[in-house]
Amino acid sequence: MSFSLNDLPLRADLVGEEPYGAPQLDVPVVLNVNENPYPPSPLIRQEMAAAVVRAAGGLNRYPDREALGLRTDLAAYLGHGLTADNIWAANGSNEVMSHLLTAFGGPGRSVLTFTPTYSMYPEYARNTFTGYVTEPRNPDFTLTADLVLDAVQRHDPTVVVITTPNNPTGTSVGLEVFEAVLAGSDAIVVADEAYQEFSGRPSALELLAESPRLVVSRTMSKAFALAGGRVGYLAAHPAIVDACRIVRLPYHLSAQTQAVARVALAHADELLAQVRSLAAEARSFEAWAREHGYDVVDSEANFTLIGRFPDRHRVWQDLLDRGILIRETGPDGFLRVSAGTPQEMNLLKHALEDLDPTREGSRP
Ligand SMILES: *Cc1c(COP(=O)(O)O)cnc(C)c1O
Repeated sequence: MSFSLNDLPLRADLVGEEPYGAPQLDVPVVLNVNENPYPPSPLIRQEMAAAVVRAAGGLNRYPDREALGLRTDLAAYLGHGLTADNIWAANGSNEVMSHLLTAFGGPGRSVLTFTPTYSMYPEYARNTFTGYVTEPRNPDFTLTADLVLDAVQRHDPTVVVITTPNNPTGTSVGLEVFEAVLAGSDAIVVADEAYQEFSGRPSALELLAESPRLVVSRTMSKAFALAGGRVGYLAAHPAIVDACRIVRLPYHLSAQTQAVARVALAHADELLAQVRSLAAEARSFEAWAREHGYDVVDSEANFTLIGRFPDRHRVWQDLLDRGILIRETGPDGFLRVSAGTPQEMNLLKHALEDLDPTREGSRP
């Protein structure tokens, strides 16, 4: 009997959709999803294991559905006078964003983003029946207050997402842009600061005290080296947190997730120790790529867009054939490279030098 998805009453707007995700391939050099390449130390692993054992003693019970201990620790990590009431946490910032759009989006409403940007946003919008509208960034991928305000006035979204540093370009957005859009509209303004720890810029957290419609979204997946732990969070006015608490699934954050994340936060200094060297690794790769004639987008994150490749898929595939996985994303002709260890970056540089320019058109 042949039976497929076509035989099921799938929601009409989901017909033909593909599950999202970059290829997960077992190759020696993985530079495709902006993870921190350094695993937790043996000592931190042991503490995580012990914390999970303690949590396991209570796994017959539901976890703390308010995740108060974790939210208290996250508030302490962020500083800026924040308390647990200002923090919401979930399984990755993708779930945090889903909560925000479930609460503030929905039919007849829209979320506005500035492209090129994170490819997950349209999925959150689709899943929550929220209209997805975009405006292009400036040619150098920056954003100005005028550009953003003009777009907000034309589209009248209930939620605006500004990603800083932006994925996939690495471009930062100044706080004056957030101030202008908060002053000039009634929208919920989300600063997606997934890569904030890698940039030396002031965080939008500085504006929270005066901005009840501002949301600062963060993740433990990148700088914190905890992508597998699945913890994202936001900082905002407690009223925004209350909205998320309405729409979250009960007990959404497991006891073991909360326990592991709290151990990671207790060792924030050690886990974040590689942040500077990873940013430096990315900047040094950029300098190398420029010297070698590539088009390089100025980045303030732990990744870099390089181009322009007449056939980027072929370059992606040829690197993969050499055991190096990078990301086929971003503007036409560009590829995104996450900062890895110095050894991994050397392998990547050698592989790029090794590509046959006539075949791949690898040189501009
Ligand atoms: C990686 C990333 C996130 C984090 O996603 P998680 O679900 O927390 O792993 C959020 N926003 C952007 C722009 C990202 O690139």
